[in-house]
Formats: sequence, C-alpha cells, structure tokens
Amino acid sequence: MKPTLFTFTDGELEKFITDMGQPKFRARQIRDWLNRGAPDFASMKNIPDALRHDLDSVAQTLPLRIVKKLESSDGETTKFLLELNDGEQIECVLMRTTYGNSVCVSSQAGCAMGCKFCASTLLGLKRNLTSDEIYAQILVAQWELRRDRASDKPIRPNGDANNGDVSHIVIMGTGEPLQNTENVIGFIERANTDMGIGWRRITVSTCGIVPGIERLIEWGRPINLAISLHAPTDELRSQIMPINNRYKLSDVLDAAWRFTDLHNRQLMIEYILLGKKDENGDTVLYNATPEYAEKLSDLLRGKNCMVNLIPWNAVDERDFASPSGNAVHRFQDILIKNGIHTRIRRERGTDIGSACGQLRLNNAKK
Ligand code: SAH
Repeated sequence: MKPTLFTFTDGELEKFITDMGQPKFRARQIRDWLNRGAPDFASMKNIPDALRHDLDSVAQTLPLRIVKKLESSDGETTKFLLELNDGEQIECVLMRTTYGNSVCVSSQAGCAMGCKFCASTLLGLKRNLTSDEIYAQILVAQWELRRDRASDKPIRPNGDANNGDVSHIVIMGTGEPLQNTENVIGFIERANTDMGIGWRRITVSTCGIVPGIERLIEWGRPINLAISLHAPTDELRSQIMPINNRYKLSDVLDAAWRFTDLHNRQLMIEYILLGKKDENGDTVLYNATPEYAEKLSDLLRGKNCMVNLIPWNAVDERDFASPSGNAVHRFQDILIKNGIHTRIRRERGTDIGSACGQLRLNNAKK
C-alpha cells in the first residue's frame, strides 16, 4: 500500500518531499492541494509534471477513493460510494440546499446497532473510521463543489450565504457515531479548525448511546444533537431498535436534554414513519398511528425540540412499508395540535438510492 500523504504531519510531508530531492516549498504546495481535497496528483496544477508523475508512483493523496458517484436528476444531491485503503466501502452524500451545502458523512464501515428498518446494519459492523477517513469525506464533497464552480452548473442556492463551500455537516451516514466517539470528536474539532465550519452547523445523530451523549456533554462544544427516536414507548422501540434494551427511552432523553440545556440548543428528534403490509397486501400503520402521535407529544411537550418526520426509504430486505402521504400528514397534524415543532423531512436523492447504506449494500450484493 502506498503511503497516504493526507495523513502525514507537516513535518513528515516535508521530509518525504525533501527525501525525493525536492525543495521544501513543494511540501507546502502539496499540503494546500491535500487540504482542498485533491483526489490525485494530476490535479495539482502548480506541481511540475515529472514530480506529479513520480509522486503518483510512490504515494496517494487521500485515504479513500471514489468508486461510484451518483447525481440526482435535479442536480442537488450527489452521492459517493468510497473505498478505504483496506477495501471497506462507505457512503457520503452532498446536498446543495437553500441554506448552504451540507455533507452527510459515515462514522463507521457498517453498523452494529441492528435497527430493523435500516440497510446500513445488514452486513454488521466492519470497523470504526479514523478521524482522517471521516474528514476525507468532506474533502471529497468540497472538491465536487469546486468542480461545480469550474463548470457551468448553477450553484444552488444563489443566496449570499453560499459561497460554494461545504457549510454544514451531519454525521448521519452509515454507523453509530457514539460508538466511535473519540474519532468523531477529533473529526469535528478539525472540521471546525481547518475548514471553519461552526459548531452550530454540525449535527451528530445517535440511536441513543447514553455514555456517548455524556461524553459530548463533557467535551462541551455547542454542536447539534439529533436522537433517532422512532418510537415513543420502550415496548415499541425495543422491537425495532435493539439498543433500546440497553438504554431506555427516558434515560436517552434525559441525557439529551442535559446536552441541549447546557448549550441552549434545540434537540432534533428523528422519527421514521413506518407501516407494515397486512395479509391482503395493504399497508397498515406501525409506529405512525394517531395514538403514537399522542404518546410522542406527551413525551416532548414543553421541551425545546424539533421533530423531523422521515418517510421511510424502502429497503428490499426490510419488512416495512412507507405510509401514505395522508397518514404522514395526519401524524404531523396531531403533533402540531399539541404544540410540538415538527417538519416532514424532504426526501433528497431517492432516485439515487440515498437511503442509509443502500448504495454500499447494493454494491456488496453484486
Ligand atoms: N446511527 C445514527 C446515525 C445514522 S442513521 C443514528 O441512529 O442516528 C441516520 C438516520 O437515518 C437515523 O435516524 C436512522 O434511523 C435513519 N434511517 C435509517 N434507515 C432509514 C431508511 N431506510 N429510511 C429513512 N431513514 C432511515
């Protein structure tokens, strides 16, 4: 395996370059390209041809490479299937939105959590990602945005807030970030320092690992926290999320409120709306009944939170169905009536299989 220059310290990079008989300033130039996400040496325009060629035979740039790139038909969403140095594959998604450019990154190759509706966990957990491997995903997105700018592709949005760089990060790709907490923290610190992405523009989404939330409290950075709730009672939640047998709903929410109170932040609650097929093949509501909407309201009433209702993205291997639009709106109306902030998450990139882990899974099946 060729060494990955991105993971070198400045000192190591300088030694590597001067050992090749090159002047020191080349190391700084190369570092500059690496920080911008250059996927290969050929992209490094101010490096002489011969050196680019030599570098290519002895080293690689990032700790991952793009295997597949899919663009949604509206051009707003780009999904990347990436391969790490040991052959593991992960996904990351770039979403060009009206508030900026958001990147959804993976924190693990695979996932051990076993949630019954999710594709990411079907092949189990392979390993944790390093901070560098998580960071490299935003560099891939950053490079793609640079390509947007270089091409005629209109950059969304046209608001002044968007200068075409990555502005938001959600750690909501494959994996459970709070099973890889220290590397995730290392990644966030770096995204803040090196890319200037504000704490408040970074969201960690967890299925509810209480010690991990406590670690975030101790860490003290005012990032956003999202809890994948998906059910308002322990009984129902344990049926679809095995982690609930370990950390009860009330303990998860207690820890989450302590986090958001500390930073005076709104807690994001994720709630996938699930149905099931009955024996006639009709869809019946599962966690999306009006009764569950009332129970969810009881749990959240008076709290500073936002409920994101997520229509389930169908996964072939999973025995659920997506409820109708009417059922989704009925569920939302009950929350609204009860004074709970809520919105229905817009689906992005369904035409390119942007549901969690689908691309990786489909590739592994081949
Ligand atoms: N492990 C973390 C982050 C990854 S999952 C967590 O549980 O929060 C990111 C979000 O997508 C979670 O809310 C997860 O429950 C949801 N999700 C998983 N599979 C989905 C599917 N098929 N359709 C819609 N949302 C899904």
